[in-house]
Amino acid sequence: MTTYNFCAGPAMLPVEVMQQAQDEFVNWHGRGCSIMEMSHRGKDFIKVAAQAEQDLRDLLQVPANYKVLFMHGGGRGQFSAVPLNLAKPGLSADYIVSGAWSKAAAEEAAKFTQLQVQTITTKTDDLRSLIAPSDWQLNPNASFVHFCPNETVDGLEFTDLPQTSASLVADLSSTILSRPIDVSRYGVIYAGAQKNIGPSGLTIALVRDDLLPAKDAAIPCVLDYRLYAENDSMFNTPPTYAWYLAGLVFQWLKRTGGVEAMAQRNQLKAQTLYSYIDQSDFYRNDVATAYRSWMNVPFFLADERLNDQFVSEAEQNGLLALKGHRMVGGMRASIYNAMPLEGVQTLVSFMKEFARVNG
Ligand code: PMP
Repeated sequence: MTTYNFCAGPAMLPVEVMQQAQDEFVNWHGRGCSIMEMSHRGKDFIKVAAQAEQDLRDLLQVPANYKVLFMHGGGRGQFSAVPLNLAKPGLSADYIVSGAWSKAAAEEAAKFTQLQVQTITTKTDDLRSLIAPSDWQLNPNASFVHFCPNETVDGLEFTDLPQTSASLVADLSSTILSRPIDVSRYGVIYAGAQKNIGPSGLTIALVRDDLLPAKDAAIPCVLDYRLYAENDSMFNTPPTYAWYLAGLVFQWLKRTGGVEAMAQRNQLKAQTLYSYIDQSDFYRNDVATAYRSWMNVPFFLADERLNDQFVSEAEQNGLLALKGHRMVGGMRASIYNAMPLEGVQTLVSFMKEFARVNG
């Protein structure tokens, strides 16, 4: 039985990447030791690190005036890093709240800067939805505008960018590399690695050069974008193994057609799941069609008393981690890049059978 892991993160990794890592684990490229045991300052690791950066630049077509930083601290580390690096005295930042993670980002930022919070979630006739970016009230003098285009917990996603002259700062933790984006439209993009990039412990930040903080800014060193940029992300010891594994994932992405091909696969996966849910009376997704996430699909059983049975029978069938987030309830299938179409098809078959037996 093939197992498919629908966890929201740490999430599934491509099997061939893990097999390659396994093959190389004890004796990396004949060096007699693991990449995990090598100095981050040695020439072997520096080569691996630089290749990973180049591959990520190629995949997202990152313009030359952006730094690619390999950081610690996860998405939440960036919730602090963003205001610490970007806030300007006397100016407030705009924070768009579209769900749980952007709300948490705003709460953290409030420790470090003035901000204006705009909540854009709506609920009508039991459908969760969002106010479109064209209708947001944005402050053109804001130091930056922070938003999260894919809300992992809520299963809400938007693709239009805010229309403002302020710098855009986006938390792409659960959507980076799932499709092409125009990096030049953003000031900062960040993402924890543990969904579409690699294992947890690594955080990627793309930072436009003009947004690097002043040299003497009072920022903790492990959150300071300038310090990271000036030291090739090696001011302190980086999460070397996660960086290496992210590099293998980037190579896998390139081999399999890059983010364009990935976008087609992701769209098909999401369509397959949503269209089954929509035509079923047994299951329901409560997100307005225009804002449904490609990556995180929450759904509910009509009879919620069957939830535990659903989760445990799914597990027995090799379909793991489908229990919904406690804030939303029901089920959630996270179908990131590494989830093959067959995983989604297997889930749909299981859901059909479960509905037939219990409906
Ligand atoms: N932002 C988003 C969109 C997330 O999904 C998560 C984690 N699921 C975070 C931030 C927080 O990330 P971390 O746990 O790496 O701090």
